[in-house]
This record gives sequence, C-alpha cells and structure tokens, in this order.
Amino acid sequence: MNRKMIIAIDGYSASGKSTLAKNLSKKLKYTYIDTGAMYRSITLLAIRKKIFHSDLWNIKNFLPFLININFQFKWNNKLNRTDILINKENVQSKIRSIEVTNKVSLIASIPEIREKLTIIQRNFENKQGIVMDGRDIGSNIFPKSDLKIFMKGSIEIRSYRRFEYLKKKGKKISYEEVKKNIFYRDMMDLYRKISPLKKPKDSIEIDSTLISTEKQLNMVLQLIENIKFCQKK
Ligand code: C5P
Repeated sequence: MNRKMIIAIDGYSASGKSTLAKNLSKKLKYTYIDTGAMYRSITLLAIRKKIFHSDLWNIKNFLPFLININFQFKWNNKLNRTDILINKENVQSKIRSIEVTNKVSLIASIPEIREKLTIIQRNFENKQGIVMDGRDIGSNIFPKSDLKIFMKGSIEIRSYRRFEYLKKKGKKISYEEVKKNIFYRDMMDLYRKISPLKKPKDSIEIDSTLISTEKQLNMVLQLIENIKFCQKK
C-alpha cells in the first residue's frame, strides 16, 4: 500500500523550509501549503484596513473581517509556483513586501487570528498527501504527522541567503536590515504565548547552514522511504 502522508516542516525564519517543502511536494505530487503565506495575507488585509494606523492596536475592529475569510492555493503554470489567493484575490507577490514582512509576526501572535488559521489549516488535510510548512505544524496543527522536520541555520547564513534573494528580486534593503528583521521574527515566534516556535520531540532536525537544498531533499526522501518500509512491516 502506498499511503499518502502528512509531512510537517517547521523552523526558524529563512531556514529553507519553503524550498524544501516545495521540492518535496513536487517530487511526491503532494499538496503544498505555505502557512506563513496565510499569516502574511492576513497581515496585508490588516494593513489595508489601516489597523496599524490606530494609536492603540485594536484587534476587535479587525476580527469581523476574518469570519468568512477564504484561502486557496493555486498552481501558477506561467511562473512555476503555487500562488495564494485570499478572498479570491491573488496576493502571492504582494505578501512578500517589506511592510508585510515587518508586521507579520505581530499579527501571528494574536490568539484570535491563530485560532482561526488553525481551523482552516487543519481542514486542508486530504487523501492526496500534504506538505505543510510553518512554525507550529508538527507541534499544534498536525501533531500526528507522519514525518516532522525542524529546520534551523546560523542567523548569518539565513540573513545572507534572504538578502541575496531579495536583491535578485530588485528589493532595496540592506543585509543589516534583513538580519534585524529575521532576528525580530525569531524572537516573536519563540516567545509568543500561543503555539510558539518549538522543536517537537519527535521531529528530525536539519541544520541548513552548510547543507545544499538538493542534499536536504535527498535526506528527507530517504527518511520517507524508511518510514514506508517500517509501515509495511
Ligand atoms: O514562513 P514565513 O517566514 O513566510 O512566515 C511569516 C511569519 O508568519 C513568521 O515570521 C511567523 O511570525 C508567522 N507564522 C506563524 N506560524 C506559522 C507560519 C508563520 O506564526 N505556522
């Protein structure tokens, strides 16, 4: 039997989670769900609703917009990537802005928002197999995942890689600014009250500092083969 799995990939910002998740989902023909993109999309909405312009952060004003919120992940053939749609609007490019990146961890620390996204993310479970990446997938969203990967890497290499990526995309940001943002998001994610970033006990850790993306993929594919072999026994 070739049972489809739930694969959870958590870890620090810019540690290579989404690259690994995308590569795995392509190889296995599984659905890929980028939960960071979901938090980023909600942040974009909050910015548009000028939630951040009020003196006092008032989440109550924003919560009604979340009631009927709708997410879709669609394959974009032209750009060879999965795009996220919120309320039918494709926001894939807009959610990578510096403004969204600077504010997303604050939004992700709000309990009502996490509760809402937890329900939506659990509903993505399907029979075709799923690779989901984020901060709380193995610890909270799918604690019974077949495979849990936890990714880390030195702050310097994570910042450098992200800086190079943004530079290629034409974004005007310095290495120091990128590093500051990554450090800030790490701290916010590690120390928030609800479902903080935490390495699940039953996860396999990958330190991506010195390991190529190709090697990471091969390591995880090998792990999957081992799991399948054990499940057959
Ligand atoms: O993965 P990405 O860096 O795009 O995520 C953006 C932000 O969303 C993270 O810095 C984190 O604050 C938040 N996040 C989260 N829980 C998840 C996924 C993302 O808190 N499952």
